[in-house]
Amino acid sequence: MELLELAETDVKGKLKEIFGFDNFRGTQEQIINNILSGKNTFVIMPTGAGKSLCYQLPALVQEGCAIVISPLIALMKNQVDNLNAFGINAHFLNSTLTKGEITKVKSDVTSGKTKLLYLAPESLSKEENLTFLQNSNISFVAVDEAHCISEWGHDFRPEYRKIKTIIGMMGNLPVIALTATATPKVQVDIQRNLQMEEADIFKSSFNRKNLYYEIVPKLDAKKQLITYVRKHKGQSGIVYCLSRKKVEEIAELLKVNGVKALPYHAGLDPHVRMNNQDAFLNDSAAVIVATIAFGMGIDKPDVRFVIHYDAPKSLEGYYQETGRAGRDGLEGNCVMLYSYDDIIKLEKFNKDKSVTERDNARQLLHEMAAYAESPVCRRRHLLHYFGETLDKDCGFCDNCMKPKEKFEAKDDILLVLEAVKKTDQRFGIEHIIDVVRGKENDYAESYGHMDLEVFGEGEDQSEEHWNSVLRQILVLGFIDKDVDNNNALKLTAKGTAFISKPEAVQLSKDHDYSNAETEPDDKEPTAGSKAYDEPLFNSLKALRKKLAKEKDLPPYVIFQDPSVEEMATTYPMSMEALSHINGVGMSKAIKFGKPFIELIKKHVEDNDIVTAQDVVVKSAVNKSKIKIFIIQQIDRKVPLEEIGEAKDLTADDLLSEIESICFSGTKLNLDYYIEDILDEEKQELIYDYFMKAETDSIGDAVAKLGEEFVSVEDLRLMRIKFLSEVAN
Ligand code: ADP
Ligand code: MG
Repeated sequence: MELLELAETDVKGKLKEIFGFDNFRGTQEQIINNILSGKNTFVIMPTGAGKSLCYQLPALVQEGCAIVISPLIALMKNQVDNLNAFGINAHFLNSTLTKGEITKVKSDVTSGKTKLLYLAPESLSKEENLTFLQNSNISFVAVDEAHCISEWGHDFRPEYRKIKTIIGMMGNLPVIALTATATPKVQVDIQRNLQMEEADIFKSSFNRKNLYYEIVPKLDAKKQLITYVRKHKGQSGIVYCLSRKKVEEIAELLKVNGVKALPYHAGLDPHVRMNNQDAFLNDSAAVIVATIAFGMGIDKPDVRFVIHYDAPKSLEGYYQETGRAGRDGLEGNCVMLYSYDDIIKLEKFNKDKSVTERDNARQLLHEMAAYAESPVCRRRHLLHYFGETLDKDCGFCDNCMKPKEKFEAKDDILLVLEAVKKTDQRFGIEHIIDVVRGKENDYAESYGHMDLEVFGEGEDQSEEHWNSVLRQILVLGFIDKDVDNNNALKLTAKGTAFISKPEAVQLSKDHDYSNAETEPDDKEPTAGSKAYDEPLFNSLKALRKKLAKEKDLPPYVIFQDPSVEEMATTYPMSMEALSHINGVGMSKAIKFGKPFIELIKKHVEDNDIVTAQDVVVKSAVNKSKIKIFIIQQIDRKVPLEEIGEAKDLTADDLLSEIESICFSGTKLNLDYYIEDILDEEKQELIYDYFMKAETDSIGDAVAKLGEEFVSVEDLRLMRIKFLSEVAN
């Protein structure tokens, strides 16, 4: 017991010491302890959640070397470079290495220096490698991108199926399998194949809170694309197209319009393809235009937007692809240009498939179209699709931020629920729509549905209308789809309760993508003026780019964007201070830090910046973390109540924190919040007061303006606004 506890504290310490992170994310710590106690472990987490750490950290605190099975040789170097930057001895073993290099890798493993060894399944099964591994001290085996094992997964690789047999030949090693594919079918397949049905499963929420989802009617697609990419100048992004030809065409289009764009698809010469991928990984401003062949295993953390130029084939695919945005937790925008014509085009591609395959593909496409056209909160819809429920709308997607018109739907809901009930919960959406619209069909005839009271009750509304109502109440949980039973609709407890006691429910009117106009995109959530020192941030990024070039590494391997933002907020001017920045750690600070510290020092001197350096670093590390958190949340326009809740702060304490941030010279833009709670007139009056007043004392302000007219909280908020705009 004691030993285990010791190991646990050690793990947390190592997290900070090596990776520079203060806290584990989600269930990382439990997962790590599980594999450390020798148990088979199965991890299902969305892209960007932090799966790698779940096997990297246990590899470091244990004797011996962990084997990591990873599908793409092309990306192994990248992953190993990343680990080396943290001062970790990791290697890969594959066909790109010379004889001499292989000998060196093997001797490092034998002498116990190497903690992680990356291999593709093909290399693993090579006789000479197997013999070598059998004679080495292996701690455990990690199978990354484990959905490759499953023929139900989207990247099936037959070689993956042999993994278990080969691991078996190396002895009785614990296995950790990791995937971002959420469907139960794939999960069962993976566990069966790795013979780890008994494994402990860690499945986390698939909610990616920092991703903004938006669907735009596809009208003048090229113009829409160029406008968007121009607006996001200086940012890195992925544009997904359906065909190779389209990829080439769009990459060219972006290039002639001054965007650093590169094509990627399976038809390119392997050399060109590799170069384009590397160029994309190594540049924080490049755009890659690609087919869905691109992306698996790409760990580029600073992808700021993912555009679907054409509709994807399934929601699974869409979710994986959009998931590549904002892995570092900062801004990530996901935009799809949608037109129903694309869905029809995709259906035509399926005509040569077998009947079952075609039905399956059509079903997936149908779900895709339903999502694109839905007026429901995107995040709710997506998570519902993956079997998760969100209790309320997310407030951070197009449907939440630019809501569609609503209508009172009590009677409509009651009608369809009755129709589901009266037809014995045995039919799918299409038939239920026929019933309420009074359309005679074979089922209606043979089951006597034409005699039902509900038959034809909703004939004055269109098919699309009923389709939309049914889709929305599915997401809201009034009904469920029985996937094992031809997608028959079933009443849930909520639905049954509604029938006996109907209540008012607002539903959204459906999107009409047939005659939409391009609306100016004024509501897209851009961060506005930045809370950190922008000139310093830019200089630090330029320095990072220069250093990255010299060392032939991607910039984010040196420091990730959130770390650079933090540097431009807290001005670390010693190794010690730098190592405290989230995501840095001592090893990286020593390896790369010196020129950054020098740059920060010079910037602080040149601009006469007063920093709270000593206090911040020595006595109030956590405090400064809270400040940074608050700054970032305000930047993202999160309501103050939520920020307070997240950090367990009372409204008063939070305001004090915000004031202290503001008083130390950081500009904060609270307009989004103030607009919600204060009318314009009041705002103007208070603002004017501060403009003319001799002091910014709140007491004086209350005395002057009158207690019955303004509250202390209003005044404090307005004072922050005033100081930010005028003084900072
Ligand atoms: P996945 O494999 O699940 O898609 P990664 O392992 O590539 O995700 O991690 C995504 C990002 O999250 C990386 O940039 C990584 O540095 C960061 N990350 C992982 N764990 C933590 C943590 N505990 N604290 C902060 N950042 C983390
Ligand atoms: Mg990964």
